[in-house]
Amino acid sequence: MAKAGFIHCPSASEPDTAKCFFCLLELVGWEPNDDPWEEHTKRRTCDFLALPKHFDDLTMEEYYMLELTRLKTFIREVGNRTINAFEEEVAATRQRLVNYFGSGASLPAPPPVEDEPAGQEPGGSASGPKEPTTSEL
Ligand SMILES: [Zn+2]
Repeated sequence: MAKAGFIHCPSASEPDTAKCFFCLLELVGWEPNDDPWEEHTKRRTCDFLALPKHFDDLTMEEYYMLELTRLKTFIREVGNRTINAFEEEVAATRQRLVNYFGSGASLPAPPPVEDEPAGQEPGGSASGPKEPTTSEL
């Protein structure tokens, strides 16, 4: 299991959960004859499994590039989970408001999302920090 990147992450409901340390693929319901490498590769392209050489033979530069990819994957996964949880909460809140106030047809449409303000304030924060975009991750 470990050679295929998996770490045992049991829970009360799924005692055989295994997660790839690199691409965060989670698999449950393992059968005795399952090949972890095969189960991993057929479900997701994983840079750890695609290494052209043994992990112990990586140069320091190759290791750092691999670690960079692993961190990008981790941040993307956590960000997507956070976004999805937020969107689910927004939908549930909207539904509660519709239920509370009656028909959704009488609710006004949400205001359009505006981009940057048209004019900059004098001495504004044009050179200040900016939010990272997902394409930078
Ligand atoms: Zn993986």
